[in-house]
Amino acid sequence: MVDCGLKHRSCLESLRQQLAILNISPRDIKWLLVTHFHPDHFGLAAEVRAISGAQIILHRLDWGVLQLITKAAGGLTSEEFNRWVTSLGVLPHELDGYDRVFEFGTALFPANVEPDLLLDGEDQPVGDEGLRAMLTPGHTPGHVCVYDGQNRLLFSGDHVLTGITTHITPGILSDDDQLGRYLESLHKVQSLDVQMVLPAHENPFAGLSQRVGQLVEHHEIRLHQVLAPIRLSALSARDIASQVEWVVGLWEQMDGINRLLAIQETMAHLRLLQGRGDVIATQMDGVSLYRATGEG
Ligand SMILES: [Zn+2]
Repeated sequence: MVDCGLKHRSCLESLRQQLAILNISPRDIKWLLVTHFHPDHFGLAAEVRAISGAQIILHRLDWGVLQLITKAAGGLTSEEFNRWVTSLGVLPHELDGYDRVFEFGTALFPANVEPDLLLDGEDQPVGDEGLRAMLTPGHTPGHVCVYDGQNRLLFSGDHVLTGITTHITPGILSDDDQLGRYLESLHKVQSLDVQMVLPAHENPFAGLSQRVGQLVEHHEIRLHQVLAPIRLSALSARDIASQVEWVVGLWEQMDGINRLLAIQETMAHLRLLQGRGDVIATQMDGVSLYRATGEG
């Protein structure tokens, strides 16, 4: 089994019904590989293990991140939060409603669910049927896709989705170039021999290589959009984000959580551009400002 949904009674009920339709007993599930630590993938793991006896498998990198998140359950102090918001250049009222969604989301993280097997490294066998777990960092540091070479299937988790694009934040608890890693991970799966992709959201689809090409192009366009407003003057992450084109609409019309997601996406792009030497960051009155280095 790959991924298991939220920790909610309706998810477990739905799983039981679907297994019954397929004439599979829960006891037939030998392992549950969780592609990454997010609660909509990992949330129900303890319940699945309880009804099946399955081994829970997660990559060591994501296990590390999840432990840090659940241990720091209180999150940032209001002082730390204000300092962070200031550094982004956001006015506090622009994030109204963000904390409710954030608290709701944080409460869904499964605390105290120990995986039975932690994956290490880049590429490892899973189970006895010739499947392989491939490390594909980007969406999270330890995101894993499962490749079934014999049946030419890729369980892509949140790495490659068909209609929406994967959310990329800068390093969750570090300054890592997660977008750079994500693009590398896209190339890693692009050349796999796959007839069908089974993503964790939306529908199965064919044409993996073509979809990867679209996603790379999407980020190239966004990198240009992030660079454009900072060619002439240094701007905050908020001011840059408010000028990027977002699928959900204009900055002015977004709610607090979408604004925060937009800023995080923008910062992931800025981080990659800094690594390329195309952007430099400076500080002024507690605000981080970004500026393009060349005319490009
Ligand atoms: Zn996710």
